[in-house]
Amino acid sequence: MSEKKLFPVTVVGSWPRPAWLIQALRKRQASGCAESEFQAVADRAVVECLDAQEKAGVDIPSDGEQRRDNFYSFVVEKLGGMRLMKVSELMDYMKDRARYEEVLRALDVPAFAIKSPIVVERLTEKNGLAQDEVDFAKKHTTRPLKVPLPGPYMLTRSSWFEGLSDKVYGAPEELAKDVVKILRKEVQALKAKGVEFIQFDEPILSQIVYGAESTETFMCAALPNRRDPSDELALAVRLMNETTEGIDGVRFGVHVCRGNWSRKEEVLLKGNYGPMLPYLMQMNIHQLVLEFATPRAGELEVFKEYKNEKEIGLGVVNPRTDEIETPEQIVARVKELAKFYDPEKIFLNPDCGFGTFAERNVNTAEIATKKMAAISEAAKQLRGEFQGKAAAS
Ligand SMILES: [Zn+2]
Repeated sequence: MSEKKLFPVTVVGSWPRPAWLIQALRKRQASGCAESEFQAVADRAVVECLDAQEKAGVDIPSDGEQRRDNFYSFVVEKLGGMRLMKVSELMDYMKDRARYEEVLRALDVPAFAIKSPIVVERLTEKNGLAQDEVDFAKKHTTRPLKVPLPGPYMLTRSSWFEGLSDKVYGAPEELAKDVVKILRKEVQALKAKGVEFIQFDEPILSQIVYGAESTETFMCAALPNRRDPSDELALAVRLMNETTEGIDGVRFGVHVCRGNWSRKEEVLLKGNYGPMLPYLMQMNIHQLVLEFATPRAGELEVFKEYKNEKEIGLGVVNPRTDEIETPEQIVARVKELAKFYDPEKIFLNPDCGFGTFAERNVNTAEIATKKMAAISEAAKQLRGEFQGKAAAS
C-alpha cells in the first residue's frame, strides 16, 4: 500500500474524434460499408489518442471510445435485437411529441445527431461489448486501461421504448434481467483480459434527481410518466449490485455527470451531489467518478458524511471550455478535498469525456491533451507534497 502512487490521473472515457473518423462512422451507418474499412480508420484514431494521453501523462488511459457512436448507442453493433434510432425518429412514437420537442430545445440537444439503441427483439450476444477494443488497445499501450461501459440502469432505460420494445419485454425490469446477464459476462471477460478499471456510466440518474419537471431525457425518451424518483434510484442500485456481485480483482466505478452535450452551462443540470450520494454509496463499487470542475457541481463538503467510504474520481477540468485550467487551480481544488478525505482514495480526471457524442465533440484533441497535461502536472506537485508527508509521519 505504502508505495502506491497517489492521485492517479485518468480520463472519463471519450476523446475527441477526428473529422476523418466521424466521416468513416457516418459512412458505415449510412451504407453499412465494409466493417474492416471502418475498423482500420478507427485503429488509427485509437493509436493517436493513446499516444496523446501518454504524452499528457495519463496513468490510466482509455481507447477514447473512438469506435463508438456514443457511450451507450455503440451496443447496437455489439448485440443482436437492437436498432439504432435517432432521437428525431423516436419522436414519431412519442405520446407527447410537442412537449418532448420543447424539452430538447430547452436543453440544446441536437435531436438529429444523437442516437439511441432501441430494443426491438430479444437481446442476443455476439462477441462482447468492449473486448475487441481492449484487445487492440493493449497492443498499443502498456499502461493499465480504463474501460467505460453503459451502466445497467442506463442501458435498460435508454433502450426500452414503448411501442417498439414492449412486444418482447413487457416492462423495463424484464429487459434488465438480460442486460445484467450480458454486463456480468462482459465484466468477467474484461477482467480476464487484465483491464484495471471498469467504469459504468449512469448519467440518467442525474436527470432523475436534478431534472425539474420533465421526466423525459433525450437519452431516455421513454421514462414513463412520473415514476417515483426514489424507486428509480433504488432500481439503479439493485441493477448495479446484481451486475458486480461476487466479482473481485477489478476496480469498478460509476460515473455520473450532469450533462456534457452542450457548451452552454446554463442548460446543463446543476446541484450538489448530496441527494444522490445515499444511493451511490449503496452501490457495490469502488469509485465514484464525478464532476467537480464547475460551480454547477456544488460543494465537496457533501462527502464529509461519507468520509473515505469510496474512492473519488475527482473532476478537476471542464471538458467543454477552451481555457486550460492551471496546475495551481487543480492542486488547490484537490487540497480542499484532501483536507478531510484520504489522499490514497483520490483519483484525478476531467468532469466527463471530451467527445461524448460522435457528432458533437465538446473539444479538440489539442485542448484535451493540454488539459490532461495540466492534471498530470498538478498530480506531480501533489505527490511531492503528500507522499513526502506520508513518509515523514
Ligand atoms: Zn459524463
